[in-house]
Amino acid sequence: MRKKLRLGIMGGTFDPIHYGHLVAAEEALVQFNLDRVVFMPTGIPVRKTHRSVTSAEHRYLMTVIATASNPDFEVSRMEVDRPGATYTVDTMLALRAQHGASAELYFITGADAVWEILTWKDSERLADVCTFIAATRPGYDLSRFEQDEVARHINVEFMEVPALAISSTDIRDRIGSRRPVRYLLPEAVAAYIAKNDLYRSGV
Ligand code: ATP
Ligand code: MG
Repeated sequence: MRKKLRLGIMGGTFDPIHYGHLVAAEEALVQFNLDRVVFMPTGIPVRKTHRSVTSAEHRYLMTVIATASNPDFEVSRMEVDRPGATYTVDTMLALRAQHGASAELYFITGADAVWEILTWKDSERLADVCTFIAATRPGYDLSRFEQDEVARHINVEFMEVPALAISSTDIRDRIGSRRPVRYLLPEAVAAYIAKNDLYRSGV
């Protein structure tokens, strides 16, 4: 019998992608014995309307550049190409249809984002389709998950990653105020940002 496919999905705005995302994906790949991780840049983000998000094409290309050297990483255009607002549950259902009922889908996310997910559209349906892998930094307090009634009913696995202090917001701020971003994200992504003059006017 063919082995069940174990697929990780790393969804994000990736504005820009950074080492926090890459470290989390690699850690999930190894700790959960995944066959590969699909990076899924969002199209029009439904939850980030307070600032103008960089075009989907730039975010998609930066994600391709950042993941190009890893044979177990790939990037999907599914959300980028879908018109209108994107909902993670629709993406997961599409992946489920594409890979069949036996595939195991793992949605990789920061631990704090799991709390947000509980308030998303159709979060219960989402939890039926996939297992969450939540990245925490060493020493993260898991007790609120253990105590939370809703959280107890969704499948969440935790893993520790070392690079959690990096965020896209901080990188955009740094570029806007001409501070360094070297060692926070792949050099080729930093070069792409400079070449296309992204984030220079602040956020
Ligand atoms: P922003 O600052 O704009 O919110 P971000 O750095 O949080 O950006 P996103 O694209 O929003 O990046 O994140 C995509 C996914 O990666 C989310 O699930 C988020 O929790 C997770 N993530 C973000 N930064 C890290 C990090 N440093 N380590 C592990 N996971 C991260
Ligand atoms: Mg974020």
